[in-house]
Amino acid sequence: MEIDLDTGRLYVFIGGFFLFAVIESLFPKRSWDGMRIKRFSFHIAVASFNTILIRVFAYVPMLLWLVYVEEEGWGISRWLGLVGWTEIIVSIIVLDMFDYFWHRANHRIGFLWRFHKAHHADTYMDVSTALRFHPGELLISFIVKASWVAIWGPTVIAWFLFEALVSLSAQFHHSNIDFSNKTEKVLSPLIVTPRYHAAHHAIDREYGNANFSTIFSIWDRVFFSYSKPALGGMTTAGKDSLGLPEGRSQAFSITAWLIEPFTKRNLNLDN
Ligand SMILES: [Zn+2]
Repeated sequence: MEIDLDTGRLYVFIGGFFLFAVIESLFPKRSWDGMRIKRFSFHIAVASFNTILIRVFAYVPMLLWLVYVEEEGWGISRWLGLVGWTEIIVSIIVLDMFDYFWHRANHRIGFLWRFHKAHHADTYMDVSTALRFHPGELLISFIVKASWVAIWGPTVIAWFLFEALVSLSAQFHHSNIDFSNKTEKVLSPLIVTPRYHAAHHAIDREYGNANFSTIFSIWDRVFFSYSKPALGGMTTAGKDSLGLPEGRSQAFSITAWLIEPFTKRNLNLDN
């Protein structure tokens, strides 16, 4: 069962990556500036390194932990007696809310931001940005996510579906596409759209310290961190409007990426 879920998640991950890569090739919002191959090769290298690391250190412990917590009947979801599809849907919504707070903490707490800013150091955005995470952030969030499992007690299937949806949403909202204002008006109050998330990657921290949601965008409105993306702002402007003001020339250096958390560079934390 677990093996099937894992294979399914892998297919969603690879399928989603190719799907959004094709869509953004056909309908790019920002011009590519000839750096696409460099971006893809750098981010695929980063992701391959992270995947091996997570497989070795985090994957099996997490799976055993999920099964153990489920067998012990721990977690709010168990106490509420949630079962079947209700459990799956409620678990995905609640875990997405946990993810919202976790992402917000990554921006608010200096130590976490050191790792998360390796993701924000990207000076552009496309589907490959969804691969760009510092291994330190992934390992720390593995421990944090293990605590969500104990607190909420999702079933193994709900957890896998949540993880698959997170990776699909991340690929979607980092991709270099945009919708018409009309479609955006319908979609963005429900889910995080590329325009919505591009605002989170803006150099302008008025936007960058807002819009933390991952799957459902409601959390930013409920917890007062919503910032309306400028109409045609970050999504149409050149690469200079995305990323961090510091270290822009080093966005694609493996060394700079790895040591990012340990540099003394301006932390750019202003909230
Ligand atoms: Zn962020």
